[in-house]
Amino acid sequence: MFDTPFQYINDTLHVEDVPLTTLAEQFGTPLYVYSRAALTSAYQAYAHACAGYQAKIYYAVKANSNLAVLDVFARLGAGFDIVSGGELARVLKIGARADKIVFSGVGKSAAEMQAALNAGVKCFNIESLAELHRLHDIAAHANQTARVSLRVNPDVDAKTHPYISTGLKSNKFGIAFDEARAAYRTAAAMKHLEIVGIDCHIGSQITEIAPYLDALDKILELIEALEADGIQISHLDMGGGLGIRYDAETPPAISTFVHTLLTHLAERGHGSREILFEPGRSLVGNAGILLTKVEYLKPGADKNFAIVDAGMNDLARPAMYQAYHDLAPVLKHRNPPPAALYDVVGPVCESGDWLGRDRTLALKPGDLLAAHSAGAYSFTMSSNYNTRPRAAEVMVEGKQAHLVRARETVEQLFAAEMKLPD
Ligand SMILES: *Cc1c(COP(=O)(O)O)cnc(C)c1O
Repeated sequence: MFDTPFQYINDTLHVEDVPLTTLAEQFGTPLYVYSRAALTSAYQAYAHACAGYQAKIYYAVKANSNLAVLDVFARLGAGFDIVSGGELARVLKIGARADKIVFSGVGKSAAEMQAALNAGVKCFNIESLAELHRLHDIAAHANQTARVSLRVNPDVDAKTHPYISTGLKSNKFGIAFDEARAAYRTAAAMKHLEIVGIDCHIGSQITEIAPYLDALDKILELIEALEADGIQISHLDMGGGLGIRYDAETPPAISTFVHTLLTHLAERGHGSREILFEPGRSLVGNAGILLTKVEYLKPGADKNFAIVDAGMNDLARPAMYQAYHDLAPVLKHRNPPPAALYDVVGPVCESGDWLGRDRTLALKPGDLLAAHSAGAYSFTMSSNYNTRPRAAEVMVEGKQAHLVRARETVEQLFAAEMKLPD
């Protein structure tokens, strides 16, 4: 199978057939670079494992919502899992079919619900009774019917970082397992709602299959109880969450993951049910890097710092979750400077502004570094903190590099602001 699109050729790190040095010259740094081949390969791993089942892939847009990324997946046949009106506008912009959009999220506003209802989305993934009532009111007012799935919290431990674990009782997500049957009865009695499915999403960066099997068993138990109550469940949405390798993690391969779940479903007599997967990270995470330049080296008594031109506003994951990103030199020097232990930090005025700690690197000012595994939750979480324009984004396809988001200008950052009147 396709391994990584990021390889050294003649001591220079390439993405597909393009040297990263060329991209830095052409587009500047910091720069996000994605590989179309890697996006395609990850999608195909899901699609091939789904063949022979009624299983579908709904890409979780929040992982990377660039229009070019969405377009690549739409062309491959993906549906989309969205969590805001903004994401709805993005997927409609690239021409996604409304019946291939599911709307998730705990805090959908009335305006967002209205927009999704007007668009005709496949279903709303509902996370609370209050939300169910609001959606019913909106649908009734518009004299329409909203298709719904209830997100059930199966109370399983996904064994991931507390900030990205979502399937425990203590999390804000989903309807408690013990309350789900009653919630379905409430929904079934609402004239302007049509129950179409059930969903769960137990967390992110999950590197074991066992928690999914536990969740699946609980959801199947619930489906059987609901169908005994006369409530038909046409699709089962397993959410996303499959982890990727950032460092030394050993997540199951996409094909193994999907195959194990689908086989388990078939063994339990649900082999012909419509199944949805909502992968985000596992489709895009290892298809992107953040390219950054070393501005200064600052040796110290306790620590050496390499100060680079990408900061926590560009890549928030280390500051936010102590996340690890491999930091690799773009050029392997013929006569390398002596290697030293560095904290690789950004220019933002926060001590939490770091990309990597205690990394052994042989660096000179001006060197380029690639922060690997930066395709997911990276650009989408970037900000303008310190009035820093957000990075440009490029998608590589073989020998070609397409600019898919222009670098922001400083003027754009305050164009919507105004001074008080004189
Ligand atoms: C974030 C999210 C996903 C995607 O999670 P990944 O870990 O990126 O695969 C899928 N479904 C829902 C409801 C989500 O909130």
